[in-house]
Amino acid sequence: MEKIYMIPVNDAYQSSAACPICELKQKAEQNYLEYYLGPSLMEPDTRKITNKTGFCPEHMGKLNQSVTNRLGLGLMMHTHLKDFNEDITKDLVNAAPGKAGLIKGRTTDYKAKLNSIADRIDKRVSLCPICDKLNDAMEHYIEVICWMYAHDPAFKEKFTDGKCHCLPHTALLLRQAAKLSQNEAADFVTALASSTEANFTSLIDDVEFFTLKFDYRNNDKPWGNSKNSIQRSMRFLSSDRRDFDETGKR
Ligand SMILES: [Zn+2]
Ligand SMILES: [Zn+2]
Repeated sequence: MEKIYMIPVNDAYQSSAACPICELKQKAEQNYLEYYLGPSLMEPDTRKITNKTGFCPEHMGKLNQSVTNRLGLGLMMHTHLKDFNEDITKDLVNAAPGKAGLIKGRTTDYKAKLNSIADRIDKRVSLCPICDKLNDAMEHYIEVICWMYAHDPAFKEKFTDGKCHCLPHTALLLRQAAKLSQNEAADFVTALASSTEANFTSLIDDVEFFTLKFDYRNNDKPWGNSKNSIQRSMRFLSSDRRDFDETGKR
């Protein structure tokens, strides 16, 4: 099993993060953001890729917020725009149908042409090398987690002991568990299910108490764990995001 993935997996399961897989994903994403704003940006091979792909909306936003290399971002944007323009704009200009005259009659050819250019634009806009690398890394991490659970007793203990995975990452783990032998899957899924069940129960209680705090009769009762229960529920339901921050700031 690949060691380069085992160290960050161990670190994430030792961290205080609610979901260790969210933690792994954020760290990997940060590395790729830094990679694309770092020296790689001037390498012809990288530029050949980013000229074609650009970045998805989410990662463009994150690149925009990291102010480390504004010039690099500008250079990359310049050549990407040129590439996109050369690919699309000429066809777009030629796609406008001629107005149907009395002699020429009507044609529906233009419809297919417009849809095909729209498809090409949609496809290019959604390309993102950071998403590709991230998906690839996450696949490795999930494989390594299942492998370590079966082969490393210390890790198994960490996995079983109170760690809660968010639901999207629970789904990822389940898909990987479906590839295990029946005995391995039995053990792994039992541990996963019991932590998911415990997480649901405690969040439901905490969010209920959060709502009860709005009743004036509970004014004096302490918040306990319920104060950030909405944000914790959001993280549980859909992975961690910056806008689930308890402070409400982005
Ligand atoms: Zn997660
Ligand atoms: Zn992306």
